[in-house]
Amino acid sequence: MDKQMEFVLRTIEERDVRFVRLWFTDVLGFLKSVAIAPAELEGAFNEGIGFDGSAIEGFARIQEADMVAHPDPSTFQLLPWRDQVQGTARMFCDIRLPDGSPSYADPRFVLKRALDKAADQGFTFYTHPEIEFFLLENTIVPGQPPTPVDSSGYFDHTPHGTSSDFRRRAITMLEQMGISVEFSHHEHAPGQQEIDLRYADALTMADNIMTFRVVIKEVAMAEGMRASFMPKPFTEHAGSGMHTHVSLFEGDSNAFYDASDEYHLSTTARQFIAGVLHHGAEISAVTNQWVNSYKRLAGGGEAPTHISWGRNNRSALVRVPMYKPSKSSSARVEIRSIDSAANPYLAYAVVLSAGLAGIQQQMELPEETAEDVWSMTERERRALGIGSLPRNLDEAVRIMEGSELVAETLGEHVFDYFLRNKRTEFESYRSQVTPWELNSLLPVL
Ligand code: GLU
Ligand code: MG
Ligand code: MG
Repeated sequence: MDKQMEFVLRTIEERDVRFVRLWFTDVLGFLKSVAIAPAELEGAFNEGIGFDGSAIEGFARIQEADMVAHPDPSTFQLLPWRDQVQGTARMFCDIRLPDGSPSYADPRFVLKRALDKAADQGFTFYTHPEIEFFLLENTIVPGQPPTPVDSSGYFDHTPHGTSSDFRRRAITMLEQMGISVEFSHHEHAPGQQEIDLRYADALTMADNIMTFRVVIKEVAMAEGMRASFMPKPFTEHAGSGMHTHVSLFEGDSNAFYDASDEYHLSTTARQFIAGVLHHGAEISAVTNQWVNSYKRLAGGGEAPTHISWGRNNRSALVRVPMYKPSKSSSARVEIRSIDSAANPYLAYAVVLSAGLAGIQQQMELPEETAEDVWSMTERERRALGIGSLPRNLDEAVRIMEGSELVAETLGEHVFDYFLRNKRTEFESYRSQVTPWELNSLLPVL
């Protein structure tokens, strides 16, 4: 038994932990959890805990249902919202098949595989997300628009406001779980919050994002509110993005940094951006996986609609922060399409693969776009070679179907399952008569 496992077993005994939750994530990004008694843990470390994979979204067909969850001891944490005496702890799991090989359906494995590919080229992938979400009144009526808990706006400071108290509690809890927070503030829309996590390697970060969603929902619930990561809950307000700053390191040195370049961007960084732009439309179904995601990407609200890069340009898909990094370690680029309801493992895997393809094929970075892409005409954009992101989930899925890069990154099983699931989602949406139609057509037709 390795040292980390021994540490976990010792801590459980010392802290008198009552339950250990084993966490993993399904293909659509929903957290799954099974609680075991501490006495079972040694067995779980040695042999894993079996479960029925066919009952989990995207995991297995009925005839190959047996899967085994192996807890990763490096992710052990006590849950601060549970009792402090006889409390509850959690670990993320790797999912394996009964023969011990990694499960082709486990999103964590999809990301690990992409990270291994980066490691083969000498790179570690770091990410730092800005996570936006809404705080809503607890009275959610299906089919009715929700009510935000406040009517504040960007950077507003309300001394005894519900949301600044909420953020302080949530951040304290995140830090108790070893997740460092860099910034937090009220976002543009009523009830909308943003919390930015300090950068970490992409696997740790994807685990942290899954934990973040649970913590935010738990704290909101404890305070009689609801938190939502839905990409666009309000027609009239901005949606919730999960802009992610990314960089590649070679050992201790940031491969995106070059002091001699005008923007301090290395050739590697430029090729990475070129790869993300080149594959931008193909990876969109993964970074923006819901019918509702495309309402956010419909123009305005500071979310991208087209495929361009720029510096001080919030209409860009990829933005290079304006201020020159004083430390080489902070050189990075911001991917602005990803939304708060993406599966973070899969989203980071496809962004990384697109960037690595740019590096491998030494893709040329097109001219930066300094102007606001939203206010250009379609003709102006065409003249500048600026393509569009998919306009809805159907278009995104059709483009993804033809993508070798996404097929290879997700693996055949996840790729096929994902496409099937998303086609069904769009078909079910397509036949709905919406309030927009009733409002604008019924009075006149
Ligand atoms: N809420 C915007 C989005 O959906 C982002 C606002 C910002 O620039 O932080 O992407
Ligand atoms: Mg923001
Ligand atoms: Mg941002």
